[in-house]
Amino acid sequence: MIIAANWKMNLSRQNAGDLLKSYRDISADASASLITFVPACYLALAEDVLSKTSVQFGAQDCHAAEKGAFTGDISASMIADFGAGWVLCGHSERRQYHAETDNLIAEKMTQAAQSGLNAIFCVGESHEDRLSGASVDVVTRQLTTTLQHWQAARGGRSTQSLVIAYEPIWAIGTGLVASLEQISEMHAGVKACIAGLGITAPVLYGGSVKPDNAADIFALADVDGALVGGASLDAEGFSQIVAAAR
Ligand code: PEP
Repeated sequence: MIIAANWKMNLSRQNAGDLLKSYRDISADASASLITFVPACYLALAEDVLSKTSVQFGAQDCHAAEKGAFTGDISASMIADFGAGWVLCGHSERRQYHAETDNLIAEKMTQAAQSGLNAIFCVGESHEDRLSGASVDVVTRQLTTTLQHWQAARGGRSTQSLVIAYEPIWAIGTGLVASLEQISEMHAGVKACIAGLGITAPVLYGGSVKPDNAADIFALADVDGALVGGASLDAEGFSQIVAAAR
């Protein structure tokens, strides 16, 4: 199992350092692999606190270009320079607030691979898609468009690890959790879709995962862990989620 924490744009420097130290302690008893996605300005802090621990870390976004005149952006190689191993690609908040397309996400994943970063690639449908019965089609389109583009660009040469996160947008940060049936159906669909592209990858569930629902979600056959947003900011709650991933 993989438990990944997405801090989003939260925490002071002091609180970030304290939480990273808690993660270090949590990892001592964890059977799951832990990855934390910190705000870019805390990459040095994460490198400091997490070096020589089993907790891996990464950034929440990278630019698709290697370098250049992109004010405010950060490159994959800058992230890797801080000892980070991962980048989050295609999170719904990036798609929504930064107009990220399936092709742009593939370019970011390719750039990440060229810098030695592994990627967690997020997919998920909106509430409207869910209500209209289009969930499977939307997620299949996101997966195939991005992964075909990524496969063509990397030419089979990369050793980049890929993890998929299925995150129904309507369940992110809302307290609404997809039902166990909905999660099972979509995870089986994601695995079948990527198998059709010749890809095998762990599939995480994301969307209001909390200590009280984690064990049921982790017991599902095609769930390989979770991407946790809000609940990852609380050390006690996060440690309970990690403990549920046995
Ligand atoms: C996320 O940010 O990817 C996420 C799943 O958030 P939350 O757990 O708060 O729903």
